Amino acid sequence: MNGAETDTLTNSLFNRVYEKFEGKCFYCGGHGSELEHVVPYSAGGKKEFSNLVLSCLRCNRVAWGWHFSSLEEKKRYILIYRFVGRNEGRKFRENVGAIRGSKI
Ligand SMILES: [Zn+2]
Repeated sequence: MNGAETDTLTNSLFNRVYEKFEGKCFYCGGHGSELEHVVPYSAGGKKEFSNLVLSCLRCNRVAWGWHFSSLEEKKRYILIYRFVGRNEGRKFRENVGAIRGSKI
């Protein structure tokens, strides 16, 4: 697959995910501009429709690389981290036993 074909695939995937979430970040409801892996890429998650949600830049950065047992748990973590505080987010992360995708 050459670069142009990869870009086309990414664009059509992005459009499908964008439509599914109506342009809104799955986590905070803000403007969604990025694809976010439900199961992180580093943990073997694939770049395919069923493993992607639409995310804003900020939520994507907070979620980066962390693996939770459920998407709802991940959503709670991101919202706590962003809107309550980083320390609270870290505590939540420890309590639910989230792991770094790259360490799996
Ligand atoms: Zn967001």
